[in-house]
This record gives sequence, structure tokens and C-alpha cells, in this order.
Amino acid sequence: MRGQDSAGNRYRERSGGLSFCGCGAGFGTSDLRAGARFITVEAMLLVMIENIKKSLAAYWGYKDFLPLQEEAMRCIAGGRDSVVVLPTGGGKSLCFQAPAVTMEGLAVVVSPLISLMKDQVDALGECGVPAGRIDSSLSFEEQGDVLAGIHNKKLKLVYLSPERLVTEDFLAVLRKVRLSFVAVDEAHCVSMWGHDFRPEYRQLGLLKKLFPGVTIGAYTATATEQVRSDIAEQLSLDEPEMLIGSFDRANLVYKVRPKGSIVRQVCEVLDRHKGESGIIYCIRRKDVDSMCDELASKGYSVAPYHAGMENGDRKKNQDLFINEKVDTIVATIAFGMGIDKSNVRYVVHTGMPKSLEHYQQESGRAGRDGLEAECCMFHSDGDYGTWKFLMKDMEPEAQEIALIKLSRMYSYCTGGICRHKAILRYFGQDLGKGNCEACDVCLGELGRIDDALVTAQKILSCILRLDERFGGDYTASVLTGSREKRILENGHDALSTYGLLSDHSKDAVHNWIDQLVGQDYIEKAGEYNVLKVTPKGRGVLSGRETPRLLKPTKKPAKVSKAATDSWEGVDEGLFEALRRLRKSIAEDRGVPAFVVFGDAALRDMARRRPSTPAGFLEVKGVGQTKSKQYGKIIIAAIKDYCSANSLKTDVNLPCMS
Ligand code: ADP
Ligand code: MG
Ligand code: ZN
Repeated sequence: MRGQDSAGNRYRERSGGLSFCGCGAGFGTSDLRAGARFITVEAMLLVMIENIKKSLAAYWGYKDFLPLQEEAMRCIAGGRDSVVVLPTGGGKSLCFQAPAVTMEGLAVVVSPLISLMKDQVDALGECGVPAGRIDSSLSFEEQGDVLAGIHNKKLKLVYLSPERLVTEDFLAVLRKVRLSFVAVDEAHCVSMWGHDFRPEYRQLGLLKKLFPGVTIGAYTATATEQVRSDIAEQLSLDEPEMLIGSFDRANLVYKVRPKGSIVRQVCEVLDRHKGESGIIYCIRRKDVDSMCDELASKGYSVAPYHAGMENGDRKKNQDLFINEKVDTIVATIAFGMGIDKSNVRYVVHTGMPKSLEHYQQESGRAGRDGLEAECCMFHSDGDYGTWKFLMKDMEPEAQEIALIKLSRMYSYCTGGICRHKAILRYFGQDLGKGNCEACDVCLGELGRIDDALVTAQKILSCILRLDERFGGDYTASVLTGSREKRILENGHDALSTYGLLSDHSKDAVHNWIDQLVGQDYIEKAGEYNVLKVTPKGRGVLSGRETPRLLKPTKKPAKVSKAATDSWEGVDEGLFEALRRLRKSIAEDRGVPAFVVFGDAALRDMARRRPSTPAGFLEVKGVGQTKSKQYGKIIIAAIKDYCSANSLKTDVNLPCMS
């Protein structure tokens, strides 16, 4: 397999030389022997990319590519197989949608879920791109319409499930049309190593056998090397270009706090996001129900979602959330797959997930539109214990891996290093800057305590005095001089370390113990998670190592760098007015609000405040179809608002990103 960096343009000559727009030419920078032919193909590619850029502006209203989009599109346009790994919100769909519009023939998009297909096809329709889907939720007539659209070459893209694609009926359809390429979305579903294996995806291996010349692009947000190579292998890709983006989600602000009175903590987050959409994850169903009841009784707009509910109720609540009839969905992790809602502004975890992969997935549902969003996690020792308990019956090998992942997750919570850096490091990437300006650590919401070395030494010697036979809760009690019966009965009030940290609350001491575990100075052993001092911890006792111990210093702020940038120049009142207008438009059209316009487009409207159709087209995310469709009504609303509020219209902005 080829390299993993994202340098792009590393095209090599391919063995077969796939067809490029039907002309049958190979291409590659090393292809000097091919001389003139190479230049022609390269020149044609340039033209293709120019055309793609034009359609990006015309249909989607975007002027620039997001990172690696251009490289990914070059692969498709140039007939090169590719595996494109970009984080959620990285703009993977456009990597195949934009080439599909410009290339001759029909693009086939494989997608695992009807909800995903529906959202994408609806969104394409809103942009004026002829696309259809064939799935079991459509009537016979509707399917017939789509097939007709394929036959008379009206459609540029068709979305299908993998099992439908490989049916004899559909293969027969495909044999009769000109295929531009096949895009496999959520391609990790093909791999058993992924988090979402779908056996039907395996059948896609047939494609290369049945259509040897077809170009395949595979798209996923799953980062591991194993999944990547599995995708290439299972789909029989031909020397695919591997395009791996940065996994950093710079617009997400990560915050981690020990769990206290959780309902109050959750309310604090919700109060920072009045009227905005968000998700609250709970580990267990019963926590979903109780959290939801408590929040509803306080007047928050919430709905529950978990696997124990009736299908109909679940679907109803999901729709309420997607169509912005409720602000917040309270859910187990059963919720989320197949939800492409782009303007989720916060994701709260009321417990620690069992791995950073899970955390990345779940928190990643925030801010798909690239605007700032907050990801808050509240964790406790208890969560660690719960997961460990749930893992006790696993096969030994799987259990070992699960426990390692769990302990990495735990270190993330308690380690107190930049959250962006920690997540990236876990996925084998480097942040490349010192301060992310988008996590509680870098925003200075946690401060270092002054006497970390002495405090840590007190904790570690107490663990040794307790013969490394007790857990975190007990140790914290001894250190804070608790008069609990169990301690007195054990005679531990006579230890020299008893009450050494009695100036601090037990919660604070317990949290420092967790931080020391997170930094590998202490390990939690055995079924009861008894604390043991590691060799690294011995280094602290001898003064060779100094841990970092953090304590909360100030209230979490809503703003981060990402936030200030994307609100710059935006009139928030106008944004709210446009948001209401968007909601009523969406209701009339029977599509989710974010399919009409994303939050980024609304903010740009409330920033530029265009009063003419030409000005409206300048807005990021407004293409020609949407401009025709909604220009009048939105411009009217902008003018009304601006004159009522003495606001300047047509603010001239050279190029806001
Ligand atoms: P992914 O599938 O990688 O999670 P999507 O394809 O759903 O991401 O895109 C995420 C968001 O980014 C969408 O709102 C999309 O409109 C937006 N987007 C995609 N490409 C661009 C671009 N070139 N410029 C601005 N926004 C873009
Ligand atoms: Mg996607
Ligand atoms: Zn940071």
C-alpha cells in the first residue's frame, strides 16, 4: 500500500490504464515514455478540474475546495481508484458529487442507510443536481421514475444499498448505461475491523470483476490503517491513491469534567446553547429516560431516543430533532448513525465512552458544517468500573484490546493534556501546534496546582501505606481524614498519611488520583481497581518526575477562536430571523432545515446582508438553483430586518472563508 500523507498529486502509472472519460488513456507523472499522451491527459484533467470548480460554485455556491477534496476529485476524474479518509464534516460527499455532475454518464453511489441516501438526494435536489435513489421505502412507481431517469440519461447520480446494486436486475440496468464511476460511501462498512461492519458491503468486491474498467472511490472517516487496507482489498481496488486527511476537528471545542451533579452540569451546557440543536449521550437507557424527564420538567425542549423504545416512537423523535421541532435529543449511542444533520452545536456525554474511537465518532456528530460546536464530557470512576464490568465476559484476546482502549480513554479524561492533541496522537497524527485554542486545557479553564509534586507524593505514599490494596475512593477518604467506619475499623486513621490532604475536598483528591492514573503514575489493578504505584510513580516519590495536576479555575466559556471567527460581522438578530424563515421554508418543502441552507450559509447572509440577487449569489453556500428558488423571499426578509434595525445592507466582503 502506498504512503499515508496527503501530499496529493502523487500519480503513478497504473497497470491497466483506465478509461478517462471514455478515451482509454493512462496517466502518471512518471510516465515520461508516454510523452505527449501524458501531457494531453494532464491537460484534460486540468480542464476537468476547472469544470468541477465551476459546478462547485454554480450548484453549491462554494468557491474553494476543502483540504484534499481537489485531490480526491482528480482521482475520480482521472480514472484512478482511491480511498479517501476525511473526518466527519470533511466534505466527502462533494468529492464524488461534483465530479459526477461534470463527467459524462451516471455515477453510482453506494450508501448503507436509507436515511443517508434520502438526505443526500434531497440536498442534491435542492442544489439543482439531478439525482435519485432506489430503496425499499420507494413505491414501485417512484422506482420506475428513477429507472427511467437512468435510461434517458437525465440522472447524474443514483444512490443505492450494496445489496441492491449487486442484484441481477440492477446489474442489467448498469450494463446498458455509461457509468462515470462508483462511489462507496461509509466504506468502513466493508471491514470487519471497522466499527460498523455490514456483510452486504463485501459483495461490492464483485464490481471490479463485472466492470473491470470502472473507477471506484471509497470514502470513510474511520482512521485506522487496518480498515483502510481492508477497504482497498475487499473492493479489489487497483493501486488506489490513499488520501488521508488530518483528523483534527478544529471547530470542535472539547471539554472534560469530573461528573458532579450531572443534571445541573448538563443544564449549564444547554444554557450556553439556547435554541440550538444538540445531542446528550447517556450510557444506559434508564439514564436517558430520567435525564430526559428532568430536563423536560425544567422546561428544556428535549426528546428521548434508545433501542428500548417502540420503533415508531423512536423514528418520531428522530424526525422531531432533525426537523428542529425539539432542540435536544437525549440518547444512547444507538442514536447517530445515519444522521447527517449538519448544525448540531453541542454533544454532551454524561458518562465516559469505552474508547476514543467511540468518542471521536459520537462527538464528531457536532459541527459538521465546520462552524464551532462544543463537545462536553462528564466522566467518573464509576464509568470506568461499569465498562470494565461489562467487558468481563469477553474472549480473552478481545477483552485485552478493549481494556487497553478503555484505559486510553480514561487517560484522555484525566491526563490534562490538550484534548485535540491527545485525540490526534491516539490516531497516530500530530497536531503541529502548541495551543489548539479549542479545548478546556488550552483555553485555561483548568489551572495547574502549584505544589503538584508534593501533592502527588502524598497520594503515592498513602497508596503504599495502604499496601496497594485499596481503590481510589477509599484512598481519597484516608487522605482527607475521613471518620468513616471502614477506615477506623481498619485502623487507617493511624497511618502517617491519614489526613495529609484534609485541606481539600474528597472529590478534588479523587480527581487528582484519576489524573495520576491518566499520566501512568498509578495503575488500577484487578477486579476491584486497587491502586498500585507504577515504576514511573516511584520516580515521583524520589523527586525525579513531576506530574501535572489540574483543577478547574474558571467557568467554561462558550467562545473559542473558532467561535469568534465564524460569528465575525454576523448580525445575530438577523441570523435568528433567517433561521425562523428557513424553518418555515423547510416545513413547506418537507425537507430538514439544514438541507435548505446550512448554518454557515445563514451566517454569511446575516453578515453580507445582500439586497440584490447578484449579492445573494455571493453568499457561501448559495448556488444558482437555491438563489432562484429562495433569493426573493430571503432578500425581502433581509431588507425588512435591516430597515427596521437601521442596519447597513450589502456589506462588501472580498472573500470570507
Ligand atoms: P462528510 O461526509 O465528510 O462528513 P459532508 O460531505 O456531509 O461531510 O460535508 C460536510 C459539510 O461541509 C456540508 O455542510 C457541506 O456542504 C460542506 N462542504 C463540503 N464541501 C465544501 C466546500 N468546498 N466549501 C464549503 N463547505 C463545504
Ligand atoms: Mg458523509
Ligand atoms: Zn488544546
